[in-house]
Amino acid sequence: MTNAPEPRRTWVYPLEVKGKFQRIHRATGLALQVILVGLPWLLVKGYPAVQFDLTARRAYVLGAIFTAQDTVFLVIMGLLEAFSLFLFTALFGRLWCGFACPQTVYLEEWVRPIETFFEGKRGARMARDKGPWTAEKAARKAAKWTAFALLAGVVSMSFMSWFAGARPLWTGHASGGTYAVTLFLGGVMFWDFAWFREQFCNYLCPYARFQGALTDPQSLVVSYQVSLGEPRRGEGACIDCKKCVAACPQGIDIREGFQLECITCGRCIDACDDVLGKKGEEGLIRYTPLVPGPTIRPRTVAYAAILLALLTAFAAMMANRHDLVADISRAPGTLFNIDADGWTRNTYLMRVTNNSHEEAEFDVSVEGLPTDTKLDVSPIKLSPSSTATVPVIVRLSPGEAAARTLPFVVRVANGHDQVLLSTTFKTSEG
Ligand code: SF4
Ligand code: SF4
Repeated sequence: MTNAPEPRRTWVYPLEVKGKFQRIHRATGLALQVILVGLPWLLVKGYPAVQFDLTARRAYVLGAIFTAQDTVFLVIMGLLEAFSLFLFTALFGRLWCGFACPQTVYLEEWVRPIETFFEGKRGARMARDKGPWTAEKAARKAAKWTAFALLAGVVSMSFMSWFAGARPLWTGHASGGTYAVTLFLGGVMFWDFAWFREQFCNYLCPYARFQGALTDPQSLVVSYQVSLGEPRRGEGACIDCKKCVAACPQGIDIREGFQLECITCGRCIDACDDVLGKKGEEGLIRYTPLVPGPTIRPRTVAYAAILLALLTAFAAMMANRHDLVADISRAPGTLFNIDADGWTRNTYLMRVTNNSHEEAEFDVSVEGLPTDTKLDVSPIKLSPSSTATVPVIVRLSPGEAAARTLPFVVRVANGHDQVLLSTTFKTSEG
């Protein structure tokens, strides 16, 4: 018994179409590109509008600075994004894929127009690809691939600007490692633009894999309206022109029913509307629920409730967020020491973070200990959004340091904000 060979990939040559969905796609694609390319260049309060600086473990988001101590904020932001996508998918199906995903946006807005510019329209490309290699064919492909490489470079640099910062990256001031990652990503993007294309959605994209779990029969999908004509028997309004099939960038025939490969781009709808519109008839493909039903369903209510709870928590935490964050712990391996002069010494490590946009100096004092307590701590001066760990030494005179554990408070203040840290002072028998 022999195994059947894997079917080879059929290259997709999507037919150019015009229509309502393509106009919407152009607008959302433009908005996405402005955000992707422009946001890292924008400055808010002197900092990038958006930058996730992974090496410094710091994130800038529209004027707010988040450090490693703010991981919970970043986790909530991630959950907000995830549940927005869940809600959006339950309501509108894979609209994200067809209208806002960078994969679709760059394929539709740049890759296909570049391909048409260098190699001509669908029919000419199909004929040339079937024919033998000639100097003209090689020159056209080389020019197209060069343009794809330039595009991949720009997209990769724009994407990495979100992490490394647009200014340092584009002016040659980022690290060698950052440029190596940018080059690698650019190479992957070139491979995607030049060859992989729709296979990314079909085989690699995780969102495409779990969309089935996020939708139900009332979610909007692109579907052929069988009630208006059965295409496989040549009955009804479908004239079997196959323009919807030719226009599909995923290479599927939507008349065969809803398919997981469909990215909801609406090209087939525009194609059919165009063909049948010329005959004065309505198109047969619609963006509609598979089974009509209410918009408010247990699934959409649950997602909306979780989103609301997350938004409320995020807003409350932001309102109570301090520019000054500090914590204190006993220095590792030390409980107490008796110095040569008989005083008892406890040593602590205090971590102070300045989340503000200005340089700040911090005063440290102790409360709850005898008045002759000696405090030894270096001056703390921190640049914006930086953290320092400093030793704090507290000494009690022999008469005061009885055999006990003494609770007290360390006060850290910078003029307009303060933090009180509770800890204990230990003596020989405490
Ligand atoms: S079936 Fe229609 S909506 Fe779905 S991917 Fe193909 S052209 Fe786009
Ligand atoms: S474009 Fe419309 S009429 Fe033409 S084959 Fe597709 S569904 Fe039928």
